[in-house]
Amino acid sequence: MRLILLGPTGAGKGKQSGRLKQKFDIPQLSTGDMLRAAVAAKTPVGLKAKAVMDAGALVSDDIVIGIVADRIDEPDAKNGFILDGFPRTVAQAEALQQMLQSKHMELSAVIELKVDEQALLDRIQSRVDETLKSGGTVRADDNPDAFKTRLEAYRIQTAPVSHYYAEKGTLKTVDGMAPIDEVSHAIDQLLLAH
Ligand code: ADP
Repeated sequence: MRLILLGPTGAGKGKQSGRLKQKFDIPQLSTGDMLRAAVAAKTPVGLKAKAVMDAGALVSDDIVIGIVADRIDEPDAKNGFILDGFPRTVAQAEALQQMLQSKHMELSAVIELKVDEQALLDRIQSRVDETLKSGGTVRADDNPDAFKTRLEAYRIQTAPVSHYYAEKGTLKTVDGMAPIDEVSHAIDQLLLAH
């Protein structure tokens, strides 16, 4: 099972990826998590990416493509993976296509979580409030300005990615604003064929 989950920040990609990872016993490859790990470890990639991430903008295609190429070569990704947060640009989608082709691998499905932007801004705000209330720390890019930038980056740069997969006939859409259980059910139904 090789899956891509598309959807803007706050759409529930992370939650669904985590669930599918358990269900299919395949790794969840989140470029956001990998980049945050690089920032925390102060690697050369992390040092380059930090300011861009804090502002909510997209890290360069070269960096992200390199990270994913290395990651899908790891043994645990041999039987499948869930890409969470990648590809976010058409250039990344094309690079992924080449990577998979060279390994004679194919995508099983590309699932897009469709959302309403205003409702999403509200959802994100409550996510921050909840984290703070329970004494947690919020991510450096979890503030209203960075959210808006991330939503905009999604609309401008990532929407073409869904067109890219729609044209190939691999795109499936799910209503990401529905309650979590319903979203899970809709995704599971789509994957039954695989
Ligand atoms: P969210 O989906 O909540 O916006 P992510 O954890 O997926 O957050 O990503 C956080 C940040 O990491 C993004 O705002 C961006 O700066 C960077 N990032 C993650 N994935 C990519 C990618 N595929 N291409 C470019 N930048 C990325």
